[in-house]
Amino acid sequence: MKYNHILIRYSELALKGKNRTDFEKKLTENIRRSLVQFPQVKVIRSFGRMFVELNGADEKAVSDRLQDVFGIHSFSPALKIELDQEKIDDGALWAMKDALPDQEGTFKVTVKRPNKSYPRRSQELNYHIGSHILRNTDRLTVDVHQPDVEVKVEIREEAAYIMCKTLLGAGGLPVRTAGKVLLMLSGGIDSPVAGYLALKRGVELEAVHFHSPPFTNERAKQKVVDLTKVLTRYGGTIRLHIVPFTEAQKEIHQKVPDKYEMTVMRRFMLRIAEGVAFNNNALAIVNGESLGQVASQTLDSMHTINEVTNMPVLRPLVTMDKLEVIEVARKIGTYDLSILPFEDCCTIFLPPQTKTKPNKEKANHYEKELAINRLVQAAVEQVETLTIRAGTNVDKEIADLL
Ligand code: ATP
Ligand code: MG
Repeated sequence: MKYNHILIRYSELALKGKNRTDFEKKLTENIRRSLVQFPQVKVIRSFGRMFVELNGADEKAVSDRLQDVFGIHSFSPALKIELDQEKIDDGALWAMKDALPDQEGTFKVTVKRPNKSYPRRSQELNYHIGSHILRNTDRLTVDVHQPDVEVKVEIREEAAYIMCKTLLGAGGLPVRTAGKVLLMLSGGIDSPVAGYLALKRGVELEAVHFHSPPFTNERAKQKVVDLTKVLTRYGGTIRLHIVPFTEAQKEIHQKVPDKYEMTVMRRFMLRIAEGVAFNNNALAIVNGESLGQVASQTLDSMHTINEVTNMPVLRPLVTMDKLEVIEVARKIGTYDLSILPFEDCCTIFLPPQTKTKPNKEKANHYEKELAINRLVQAAVEQVETLTIRAGTNVDKEIADLL
């Protein structure tokens, strides 16, 4: 015997009416997309739940992929069995043994019977199936309060489902149910994590990266492409907009005093990001800033930089410590890429001292020397857009790069 299905649970309590239908449709679509490498599996929606019909696909490999799909609360490998009491008994025994291979410990059986025409009632079935397991094993005992294993049996119209394990899903909301955002993606540790957390809230994501050839090289760009590829595991296909930033950066470097160079550069990035967001129907910008982490991320700095746009700027990491961010980066598979040592456009030219409390008046004053509109427009127009698709070989490509 082996598990032939996976039962998927999802729950966002506020969901009603049309929202619920959209949520379910998107979730089904996203699950299918995440399982493309298993052409034999089928995803079926049924009464507030979903089933993956494995058709021979490996349960563990499929579970691995499901763990990355936002909107799934939890899931369980399930044995689907026809409504025949003997077969149900044997199925429950097999699942019990599979969950505790050395067959030592405690269990309980919990039967649910939405199918009221099934001849035996839940209580009677609990007892009957429990006895069958006890008779056919030596060192198992029943504990109804804190069992090592709970054997769940659901008697539905079409069949019975038997489950012993519950795995936690990624939570959140299905991607592409909440509008589009534009992620400012550097090659650092923070912004990919910010992108991941934004995806968790159900957005569709595009990314923008600023690069300054010849000061930043092809490998730095490739690193960002690879980081985007990791994010496609969670978000599906992602469009990456690469902005040529050399001209603007050079001019800022020439004309703005050292202490305000960083602030003005950030203001330009934000203006350009706004232009790219507008052209691609994104409703907000997401970045990897966290409060107080570095000079450009003090509250004064954020205030002065944020002034140049009316678009919402979401900062999923705003309250996180660096160590917390690193932990997520490791979990989602971006950390090893992020720490590769390639120059980012933010680090070139930059003077040793940056103002931690820049003010708006001065920033505006220094910017008078610059052709803001021309520089911003030129950058937005010259964007190079790459479409990064979810691949089955992301891990291999990353391994090649390391
Ligand atoms: P990260 O690890 O994301 O690079 P950081 O702690 O190094 O963050 P900064 O370099 O100050 O911080 O950047 C702050 C945010 O600005 C980044 O999280 C990212 O969203 C955005 N950003 C910085 N550099 C770039 C870039 N070259 N292209 C796009 N966005 C950038
Ligand atoms: Mg950085």
